[in-house]
Amino acid sequence: MPGYELFGDAERKEVNDMLQTGVIPRYGFAAARNGVWKAAELEQEICKTFGCKYALLTTSGTTALTTALAALGIGAGDEVIIPTFCFVANFEAILGVGAIPVFADVDETLSLSPESVENAITDHTKAIMPVHMCGGMARMDEMKALREKYNLLLLEDACLAVGASYKGKSLGTMGHAGVYSFDISKMITCGEGGAVITNDEDVYKRARAYTDHGHDHLENDRTADTHTHLGYNYRITELHAAVGLAQIRRLNEFLALQMRNHNIIHDAIKDMPGLTFRGLPDPDGYTGAYLSFFLPGEIQAREAYEQLKAAGISGLHYWYGNNWHYIGRWQHLQSGSWMHRLYEQQKKQVMHYSNLAFPMSDSIMSRCISIGISLLWSDAEAAEIGAKMGAVLSKLLA
Ligand SMILES: *Cc1c(COP(=O)(O)O)cnc(C)c1O
Repeated sequence: MPGYELFGDAERKEVNDMLQTGVIPRYGFAAARNGVWKAAELEQEICKTFGCKYALLTTSGTTALTTALAALGIGAGDEVIIPTFCFVANFEAILGVGAIPVFADVDETLSLSPESVENAITDHTKAIMPVHMCGGMARMDEMKALREKYNLLLLEDACLAVGASYKGKSLGTMGHAGVYSFDISKMITCGEGGAVITNDEDVYKRARAYTDHGHDHLENDRTADTHTHLGYNYRITELHAAVGLAQIRRLNEFLALQMRNHNIIHDAIKDMPGLTFRGLPDPDGYTGAYLSFFLPGEIQAREAYEQLKAAGISGLHYWYGNNWHYIGRWQHLQSGSWMHRLYEQQKKQVMHYSNLAFPMSDSIMSRCISIGISLLWSDAEAAEIGAKMGAVLSKLLA
């Protein structure tokens, strides 16, 4: 799954290039750079690799989400529909711009159920945010149809599906904007980093200004820039971008290894009676970052998770029980524990939506186990893991 596992000479070379100049910030100091602009180069590489017009790097996937929301003009009182299975960053970013996260169920794609999204739409809905989980994709045809039917914005969170596609288009490129993360656990890494991608020049310019105190970037001299909007500092550094530049050029190498190891393990357990696998609206676009499967019930899933762990299998996730990815465990959100006060109306709405019941999501996520696929496994090692998993699961399901 993570590119950091294969950090090596290519990454060291890019970082060394940058160290020769000593220019760590991404903007300014043109004369001292000797033509080295790692962040700008990585942005071009992102556009080329994923097929979008504009990319804007930020400090993280979380700040990229916040930036994209702001650049799309989403703010006070606007409702943004997200899945019950995502990452804390999704609601953090929405709350950060003063908007309201509204949850909709996931289906067996581990992403938004189109019916549930439609049921969640109100007069205040401004955007749908499909979160493409675990290397796979949401039902994008249905998401695009809902966007058109209700005249909404579509913002794709592809942080956990960098390199995945849907009907030939990279995830992240099909809405008004998309977001990638390059944190340490993602497909390719900068150490920390993220990107907003879009085909809309205006969204790109607004995102660029938002991440740089509102600078309009019309002049080469930063002190001459004017500031048409308020912004913040979410600028990536050249050091982080240098790592990402080496990694993005190795994306196909990473994907090939990952898919090979994924398929070896999948083959070892795919015919087991009682076991089903996550839905993939476009199997060809899958990255194989995780192998995700469903047990018949919650009790078996919890048991399987414990037994697989006891058998020495690493990289397992029982998302339903962890604190980061599933609504049921976000007590800080549900109890309204904010360090700063929200507006009364925002707090009321947030608490209302965060405390709804989601039996459909519960029934899917309580049965789901994922295993993160390592790039370091040889094919023999992957086969051994698959065999061990098969032994545990077949005994449990017998
Ligand atoms: C990792 C992740 C993020 C946030 O990315 P960071 O770079 O860690 O801030 C957002 N959404 C999803 C689905 C993620 O997996």
